[in-house]
Amino acid sequence: MQTRRSFLKFGAGAAAVGALAPLTVSANSSDVKWHEKHEIVIVGSGFAGLAAAVEAGKLGAKDILVIEKLGVYGGNSTLNAGQACFANTDLQKQLGIEDSAELMVQDQLKSGRGYASEELLKHSAELGPYIYQLTKDCGCVYRDHIINTGGTSATRSHQVVERSGAGFIRPMLKTARSYGVKTKTRHKFEHLITAADGTVLGIQVRKDYHFGHEDSGTLINIKAEKGVLIATGGFGANVAFRQALDPTLGNEVGCTNARGATGDGLIAMLSEGAMPVHLSFIQSGPWASPDEGGFGYGAGFSLYNFPHSIAIDRNTGQRFMNETADRKTRADLEVQRRDKDGKPNPALLIAPKHEAQKDPSMENVLRYNVAWEFDSVDAIAKHFELPTKQLKKQIDDWNKYVKAGEDPQFGKRMNMSTGIYLTAPFIVQRLWPKVHYCQGGIQINTKAEVIAAKNGQPIRKLYAAGEVSGGVHGVSRLGGCSTPECMAFGVTAARSMMKA
Ligand SMILES: Cc1cc2nc3c(=O)[nH]c(=O)nc-3n(C[C@H](O)[C@H](O)[C@H](O)COP(=O)(O)OP(=O)(O)OC[C@H]3O[C@@H](n4cnc5c(N)ncnc54)[C@H](O)[C@@H]3O)c2cc1C
Repeated sequence: MQTRRSFLKFGAGAAAVGALAPLTVSANSSDVKWHEKHEIVIVGSGFAGLAAAVEAGKLGAKDILVIEKLGVYGGNSTLNAGQACFANTDLQKQLGIEDSAELMVQDQLKSGRGYASEELLKHSAELGPYIYQLTKDCGCVYRDHIINTGGTSATRSHQVVERSGAGFIRPMLKTARSYGVKTKTRHKFEHLITAADGTVLGIQVRKDYHFGHEDSGTLINIKAEKGVLIATGGFGANVAFRQALDPTLGNEVGCTNARGATGDGLIAMLSEGAMPVHLSFIQSGPWASPDEGGFGYGAGFSLYNFPHSIAIDRNTGQRFMNETADRKTRADLEVQRRDKDGKPNPALLIAPKHEAQKDPSMENVLRYNVAWEFDSVDAIAKHFELPTKQLKKQIDDWNKYVKAGEDPQFGKRMNMSTGIYLTAPFIVQRLWPKVHYCQGGIQINTKAEVIAAKNGQPIRKLYAAGEVSGGVHGVSRLGGCSTPECMAFGVTAARSMMKA
């Protein structure tokens, strides 16, 4: 509910945006003193930025600059679980999985609840096999196991062996550098420099910037001949901004994002008249644990186990959702788990140890008290004060569904539960959603051009890709679908700049 307090915070958030958004440096390019000049300038070193750098290098660009405001490369992409949904790959074929770009788009449109862009999703899904190969050419190595991330009608989330986005970022950074791409950390993009007709000429950057010290370093102007790509990621870590858009997402709500996900690029483009889209669609991850900070180990553990495990409401001892439904469906249902006073009463994910132990994250969730082992249903019921009889019946019923290959309770797709009965010992993790992903951002087209709010036309020489762009996924993004989309639009931006 929007209270007066949160409404006032909206005012403060909006004022902060205004304060952060500087004016255009000059309406006349001859007034600008350029400190550096490059063919292509890319802001942000996550999936979108690095995919663009690699593609531009492949296409023959000779002078590409990638800047990153933090002291390390990769942003949210490095923290990522290393999962990427691709349809129709050689690995899917080997595993007997039938899939197609059309099916992937249909799944995403469903999850987007009528708000997703079919055109942008199609563009991204069709580039999937190219991105899959591009990452392999960079040296990324995929596991031979494909994951069911929820809300999909085919199993398609490919994962790098590191089970972390670092498994993409490191090889891509190396490949980009092999093409001569210059990469600089502690360079913070402040704002765009435009000509009188709105064409983007370059950017102003704070060189030797230290995060949290907004006046650190010195300002320099960098000229971009072919264009500027803004790939600065989302704004999940900017609490004032996200709460202005969704009053329920204040400081007390956990967040999985890197500290640099503050929406700088988005805010700068808004101040240049770019079209905002779906800004208040902010996704919470249903696989998160309230017993650790950030994404942690629990997310990987629950992601692996959701298909063959059950999520239980502590008041009833019963399931309350399809554990592989799309993220929004699950997160909305999880936050409704409350005690009699209305306080959060996180649901329990109950997994069979015999299967859970096949995933390397089990060791860490147990070691760091993010999950616990129990040798009987009675022990779980006693520890978490659940109604024992109901819980026992629920587990018996679930095992019947496993045997039948059908879930009459919530219609879960049971293909990944075959033969995996829920028997002791059990591993139990608590579930409570955390702010994870921004579906909203700046409107782009299938050329990754940034669209102006005033006339719906592209802003010349300005491109955006990745989480800073919006409107692609609608109300809810499916798991594993950001990685390929960020890379697809990064690649697209590079192609557009090289054609321009
Ligand atoms: C913990 C976690 C796990 C995830 N797991 C998955 C997954 O397995 N699969 C999936 O599909 N999606 C996943 N996602 C979502 C996905 O990782 C992100 O949407 C994606 O990485 C965004 O990539 P990006 O290139 O747009 O932005 P980022 O990777 O965030 O990169 C943007 C970069 O720009 C830098 N930057 C920001 N502002 C400035 C500025 N002013 N000047 C210079 N640099 C700036 C940032 O510091 C950052 O390094 C996950 C997200 C998180 C947080």
